[in-house]
Amino acid sequence: MDVLIVGAGLSGIGAAYHLQARSPDHTYAILEGREALGGTWDLFRYPGIRSDSDMYTLGYRFRPWTEDKAIADGASILRYIRDTAREHGIDHHIRYRHRVVAAAWSSEDAVWSVTIERGADCEQVTMTCSFLFMCAGYYDYARGHAPDFAGAERFGGRIVHPQFWPDDLDHSGKRVVVIGSGATAVTLVPEMAKTAAHVTMLQRSPTYIVARPSQDAVGNWLRRYLPAKLAYALARGKNVTLGQFFYSQMRRYPGLAKRRLIGWVRDRLGPDYDVDRHFTPRYNPWDQRLCLVPDADLFEAISAGRASVVTDGIDRFTAGGIRLSSGEEIAADVVVTATGLELQLLGGMTLTVDGTPADPARSLAYKGMMLSDIPNLALSFGYTNASWTLKADLTAEYVCRLLNTMKARGVRQATPRVTDPDVRAEAFLDFTSGYVRRAAAILPKQGSKAPWRLHQNYWKDLLTLRFGSVDDGMEFSNPAPAAGRHAA
Ligand SMILES: Cc1cc2nc3c(=O)[nH]c(=O)nc-3n(C[C@H](O)[C@H](O)[C@H](O)COP(=O)(O)OP(=O)(O)OC[C@H]3O[C@@H](n4cnc5c(N)ncnc54)[C@H](O)[C@@H]3O)c2cc1C
Repeated sequence: MDVLIVGAGLSGIGAAYHLQARSPDHTYAILEGREALGGTWDLFRYPGIRSDSDMYTLGYRFRPWTEDKAIADGASILRYIRDTAREHGIDHHIRYRHRVVAAAWSSEDAVWSVTIERGADCEQVTMTCSFLFMCAGYYDYARGHAPDFAGAERFGGRIVHPQFWPDDLDHSGKRVVVIGSGATAVTLVPEMAKTAAHVTMLQRSPTYIVARPSQDAVGNWLRRYLPAKLAYALARGKNVTLGQFFYSQMRRYPGLAKRRLIGWVRDRLGPDYDVDRHFTPRYNPWDQRLCLVPDADLFEAISAGRASVVTDGIDRFTAGGIRLSSGEEIAADVVVTATGLELQLLGGMTLTVDGTPADPARSLAYKGMMLSDIPNLALSFGYTNASWTLKADLTAEYVCRLLNTMKARGVRQATPRVTDPDVRAEAFLDFTSGYVRRAAAILPKQGSKAPWRLHQNYWKDLLTLRFGSVDDGMEFSNPAPAAGRHAA
């Protein structure tokens, strides 16, 4: 194959679309470790699973989102990805149960040899490609982050992790404790509270939570009067711009932003609620990802008494629930450990370049999508302050530009190289979240200057990636052998 795409999630299906549209003379296949496409949106099955960014920006640039709800449930997002794959004939290119475990680059042959575990017996097979496009997401599918809680083995109820939701769990009428305060916890709490006896969100420390309507009134209005593609493009532009504006204002004026965000929670929960304790984070807005609750569902569940928040440490599990650091005990029949993901890069595979192991953590990220000194490999890694797909789309477009340039110039190798001695290595993500700190050792670094700097800004990236030079920091080498030599 010219290109092997690893992963058939939102990014992998989008990457295939762009390849077909922009580099149609390149052959490709998608290798997918699981037996289904959709990635995140197929794996996660917990009650209420939904996006926390709007579908006008989480959707692909090339395929309008046409449903009323902009904050969409997991099943609708999965359907959208599946429909995209089917309508563009991408599904025929997917090889399921092909888990990539290693890739070795040979400059002599200008190919990646990719080692794959195929099928239920993990039979080892090898495929080769000229370019490897990693769309394997950013976390480990086999395990979630699960801290060891003392006494968990003595607990008489059920403990579940949202990444592995059991089909047979009926929580109606039960006392539920959800450990965590991130996007998953704030999704689960109001949803489970609809039928549970009571749901307690148990958090060590608070998160910024902001309520937003699940429907985008402007987006829906535009859809009523304009052709779908135009309405989508306008709503998408509006949401990217507003998102970027609010993000930059919050970073510039953190004190004001903090007061506003907490003020809105106070307005929802009333003057008697202890907002200082449960909804006032110790960090500034966007030091960690903001959590969105559609139609204020979390606050409504709390106001109605169906859910409550406890901010405390966990001392240990007991037979009947959880004992807190304060000595108090919460009775529980079901405990959900919404304690997060285990970050993983490149789908957990190992890399070698001309026989030498290559550690991505020692590389600088090039334009947030390639790695210094590692040829012909790109990875799709979305924004942390905006929808993932915005960057995934731009990355795929850029990869096509790169492939087309290589073909036009008759070279077989494109390697990002740091030639400027003044480029300093910095952390890849400037988040203080636990999962980002835990992953610092496996993530590449970003550089202090372009093209090694991560902008986390869609409009800047759009200019650079769609229209900017493909030569900056890129070494094109390894010309294709002349036809005569090749034949000989
Ligand atoms: C619960 C949840 C909610 C989220 N909500 C949002 C949101 O609202 N907005 C947002 O922007 N982002 C959100 N995200 C981030 C989300 O993961 C991305 O938006 C997006 O789904 C990522 O798509 P992806 O295709 O890059 O990765 P994934 O969806 O993770 O798909 C990766 C695919 O690669 C496959 N794969 C991995 N390793 C290998 C391997 N070695 N060999 C073969 N195949 C492999 C996997 O099986 C999977 O199918 C959310 C994440 C989670 C977990």
